[in-house]
Amino acid sequence: MILVTGSAGRVGRAVVAALRAEGRAVRGLDLRPSGTGGEEIVGSFEDAQAVANALEGVRAVLHLGAFMSWAALDRDRMFEVNVAGTRRLLNAASETGVRRFVFASSGEVYPENRPEFLPITEDHPLRPNSLYGLTKLLGEELVRFHQRTGSMETVILRFSHTQDAEELLDEESFFSGPRFFLRPRIRQQLSFGNLAIADLLRSRDIGEPSHILARNENSRPFRMHITDTRDMVAGVLLALDHPKAAGGTFNLGADEPVDFAALLPKLCALTGLPTVTVDFPGDGVYYHTSNERIRNTLGFEAQWTMDRMLDDAVAARRQRIAKERRL
Ligand code: NAD
Repeated sequence: MILVTGSAGRVGRAVVAALRAEGRAVRGLDLRPSGTGGEEIVGSFEDAQAVANALEGVRAVLHLGAFMSWAALDRDRMFEVNVAGTRRLLNAASETGVRRFVFASSGEVYPENRPEFLPITEDHPLRPNSLYGLTKLLGEELVRFHQRTGSMETVILRFSHTQDAEELLDEESFFSGPRFFLRPRIRQQLSFGNLAIADLLRSRDIGEPSHILARNENSRPFRMHITDTRDMVAGVLLALDHPKAAGGTFNLGADEPVDFAALLPKLCALTGLPTVTVDFPGDGVYYHTSNERIRNTLGFEAQWTMDRMLDDAVAARRQRIAKERRL
């Protein structure tokens, strides 16, 4: 039996579906139901009883559940879930005969948005500058402690930024909405309390919905990895099964980063919306993370290029618009 935490989340749901498609026994654990059927426990990995129930007969844990937030109000909760919750789960797993424990960490442990060198390899210094990244680094330390002192095999995957392709052209989506659409970005910045940035963005509103091309203060367009959930699933399954994954730490993500200057014209052509260009104060986001180790050691191959993701994003956007018109 394989336990997947965060089984109602973006990556967790897809991992559960892939394992079930292979005919493997899987149990989900999440705060909310996944709605996908199959065995799952609705509960928290912070709750000892829920964890004990979830671990019954389990040989491998894929710990993909976490609380991702960059809002000040969520700080305490994030440490409870991502650090104390991970500790509780690791302790219980090590006491109940789990053989392998895979942990979803993040590129924010480096951090990717302020790298010291490029491309970022697993040997880059770990100096997170977000509290979310710090919770992931503390989670990694707990995993490394168990790897050193216990008998469980552990695997740390430093996840790239990850999206379902369907999210890319969705104004309402958590990541792509504010990243690629101006008005959702204004709402996001207001919710973070970044009033000066919100004002800057408002001043660029052209009176109709538009995309946003983000650049830094020297007009360098942002550049980052955006990896399709389906590629992440393939990497998680390698971490679960591959003998050489044991004890390892791997960056997991697309081969190449996405250059926003090249991407935005494509988005505009697909949505018909105009783009406004905004130069943000500071260095901006500009990185390239190497996935060489996971390719060479475990045979990982990313399949879902941005162009392939966009094909799916367009189809999903058409369906959304058709549905809205019917309502
Ligand atoms: P997600 O937010 O879609 O899913 C996380 C799931 O965890 C949610 O369904 C949530 O209900 C569940 N969860 C939260 N607290 C829980 C608790 N106490 N007990 C049980 N379940 C709980 O996230 P995702 O995009 O699927 O990401 C999967 C993992 O990858 C997470 O650990 C995340 O931190 C990490 N990660 C994601 C990205 C990304 O861009 N999506 C980037 C780097 C790392």
